[in-house]
Formats: sequence, C-alpha cells, structure tokens
Amino acid sequence: MAAAKQALKIRLPPLPSIKDVIKLYKLRAIRELSQNFLMEPRLIDKIVRAAGHIENNVVCEVGPGPGGITRSIIQQGPRKLVLIEKDPRFIPTLELLADACRGKVDVDIVTGDILKTDISQFLPEDTKHEWTDSPPPINLIGNLPFSVSTILMVRWLEMISKREGPWSFGRARMTLTFQKEVAERMAACIMDKQRCRLSVMCQNWCSVKYKFDIPGAAFVPKPDVDVGVVTLTPMKQPIIKLPFKLIEKVVRQIFSMRQKYSIRGAQTLFPEEVREEMALRMYKMAEIDPITRPFQIATGEFGRLCEAYNEIIKIYPEFENYDMRAPKKKIDADVEAIT
Ligand code: SAM
Repeated sequence: MAAAKQALKIRLPPLPSIKDVIKLYKLRAIRELSQNFLMEPRLIDKIVRAAGHIENNVVCEVGPGPGGITRSIIQQGPRKLVLIEKDPRFIPTLELLADACRGKVDVDIVTGDILKTDISQFLPEDTKHEWTDSPPPINLIGNLPFSVSTILMVRWLEMISKREGPWSFGRARMTLTFQKEVAERMAACIMDKQRCRLSVMCQNWCSVKYKFDIPGAAFVPKPDVDVGVVTLTPMKQPIIKLPFKLIEKVVRQIFSMRQKYSIRGAQTLFPEEVREEMALRMYKMAEIDPITRPFQIATGEFGRLCEAYNEIIKIYPEFENYDMRAPKKKIDADVEAIT
C-alpha cells in the first residue's frame, strides 16, 4: 500500500526548480564528489517520508547539494536543520533556502567533509535521550555520495558501538542512500548470497530496513547503477557484545574466502604454523561446523566465534596483533574488502 502523503508543515515561498537552480548557478556535476542530483519531487519526498516523523526534530543532512531533499525536509517542519556539504558552490543555493524558512527552522550550513565533521557539536543538549530510551528527536538523512558512503557507514557503526558523536545523544536514526547492491548487502540475512561483512557489521548494531529502490535514471547525471534507500536504527543491545575492532577483524577474515568453508577464512586470523589447530579450536569452542560457508553463519553464531577468538587471544596474547595483511601496503582497512 502506498504510504500516505504527509501534510506540509511549512510552506516555502515560490522558488526556482532544482533544475533551474542548477542552470542558474552553473552547477556542473563533479564526478570526484559523486554528484548525482535527484530531480523528481515524488522520489525526494519518498526518501524524507522514509525517515518517519521529523516535525520538531533536529535533522542533519549529508551532502545537500542544490537542496532538493533539503526543501522536502524543511516542509516537514523540523526544529533545526544541519547541512554538511563539501562543495562550496552549493552554499548560495542553501543560503537561499535558509532565508526562505528564517524564523521557522534554525539552519546551520557547514562547508566541510562529513568524514571530518563532528555532528554532535550542532545538536542541542535538550535532544539527548538515554540509550535505552526511545530514539532521540534527531535524524541523519542523506543521498550519500557513492565515494564515501561505505566508509562513512563503517565509521558511524564504530561510533554507534562506542556511543560517540551523534550517538552520544541516544539511538539517533539514519535514512541513507547507497548503491543498490551495497544497500542489499547491508540488509542481507543469513543464507542470502549477498550476505557479507557489511551485513553482519550493520545488523550487529542496528535494525536495518531496505525501504525501496530509486532507478539510476532518476538522477542527473545518471549513475551506472540503481540506488537503494535504507533506514538504520541503533539497537539497545548489540548482538555481539565485544569491541568493534575485534568483531570487524574476525568477520573480515571469515568472509575473506566467501566461497570456501568458513574455517578457511578463520585460519587467517592466526600465524601459519598454528593456523589449522587454532581455527579448529575456535570452531569447537563456538560449536560451529567448520564446513559452514560464511553466508550461512547467523550474527549470533559470529558472536560465538568472536567470543572463542577472544578467549584464544587471552591465552595466546601474541596472536592478538597478528595481521596476515601486514606485509601488504595498508590502503585503508575500512574500505578494503568491506563488501
Ligand atoms: N542531496 C543532493 C540530491 O539528492 O540531489 C545531492 C546528492 S549527491 C549524490 C552527493 C552530495 O554530497 C553532493 O552535493 C556532493 O558535493 C556532496 N559530497 C561529496 N562528498 C562529500 C563529503 N565528503 N562530505 C560532505 N558532502 C559531500
């Protein structure tokens, strides 16, 4: 059933269309910044609706660009809007929007890189909720640039695990776009062929919902792929209650040989001379069948494997820092093989 159209809480004065704004300000898309602009108001409103009730909330939009989604957010009457945009060419168009809703919505425009911006400094203290309470009135929304979406998601998951940044205010919800394939992987359940490290990491800390697809043709310029819209709500308790880095390492190595028996990947957690023995011990302790394939392991079962690994490195602390990738040039461990 189609979602009911939400009534407009704030009416903006007549503004040029996003297409005209782009023409007017000569905003040619820059490929390096993954600039693909969403033009269709119906789809833009659908993304904002996916975020749920945002009236009187504090909304942080990542990469507002010419402001299509921003307009739709403003019309839902948030209390405050924080816009984080790397490309300064968009600032005049965003200032135009801030002027249009002055006195109704408090707008902060930040020219900067989302990977280097501490969002929490823009959040009012009175929005803080306890972690175990309902989510705070804070929403993170963004038609994310493909070039940063996965690394941003992994960083945010680590912050969620430590309750840092916006998550020091409680279980703030996210409504984000990803390349369709990445979005599907984030939501992929056990036995799904798409299941990967990102699925386990996302689902360990968040309730992940794949909401809908947006065809590539809806963007200008048209990207080579379609897009998926995902919502994430941090859970009160993660499934695996261990440090982020440990979980990330175990899950990464197990998925490093995704077509093989999962124990093959687990062996790479240990130096060559003890590899087979230690991995077998780990699987015995966790009571997991070594011939299970990585995509057949549930998040709770990964939890048992992580616990077993944690026990082994307590007995043999020399294995803790073993990293079979060490001789390789370390590009960025977050990005490498995350999918
Ligand atoms: N929100 C607009 C829309 O839906 O049409 C634009 C979305 S476009 C896919 C991504 C936006 O993110 C662009 O405006 C781009 O300049 C911005 N961007 C790219 N890298 C960024 C970064 N590291 N930090 C903040 N914004 C970034």
